Amino acid sequence: MAQPAVAHPTVTPAAPTAVPAKLPISAVAPWAVFVGILMLVLLYFVGAEQGATSLVSGEGVHEWVHDARHLLGFPCH
Ligand SMILES: [Zn+2]
Repeated sequence: MAQPAVAHPTVTPAAPTAVPAKLPISAVAPWAVFVGILMLVLLYFVGAEQGATSLVSGEGVHEWVHDARHLLGFPCH
């Protein structure tokens, strides 16, 4: 009795994978510092731009960031 032919799966060579380009830390560091300072300024305006620490007179900045202020848990009213 003849054995049925066993189908072997064909092995296909793996497709070449994309390798991400290496980014030197010296190219990223100035941007990281810049974004860090920008975030600190934004955090100041959200958290402390009110009353005695206010840089801009009036309530305009406070009203613009009021929801973010409550979201982040800064004391408000
Ligand atoms: Zn409030």
